[in-house]
Amino acid sequence: MTPNCPNCDKLLTNVGYQPTRIGPLLSTEGYKGIIYVCPYCQHVLGVGFDPLALNADTASNAAHEVERQLGPMLSEIVDGLNQLLHKV
Ligand SMILES: [Zn+2]
Repeated sequence: MTPNCPNCDKLLTNVGYQPTRIGPLLSTEGYKGIIYVCPYCQHVLGVGFDPLALNADTASNAAHEVERQLGPMLSEIVDGLNQLLHKV
């Protein structure tokens, strides 16, 4: 079942979107969001987080955390290997 726009009643076989930010009021911080709009009359159909931006942010945060936690250990391993190579 395909819904109709609650404003203009046209069949919504697709919807448009506009980027926005979702966060605390009066703050510039927040997350990337999407405003879903009727392609015919621009009526706002809903608002949600941008799933692609959330995935990218989550992957980036995970990579930074892995680097933060394993970075010093990896440096020690590389230093140890360099010392071994220079002894041979
Ligand atoms: Zn509409």
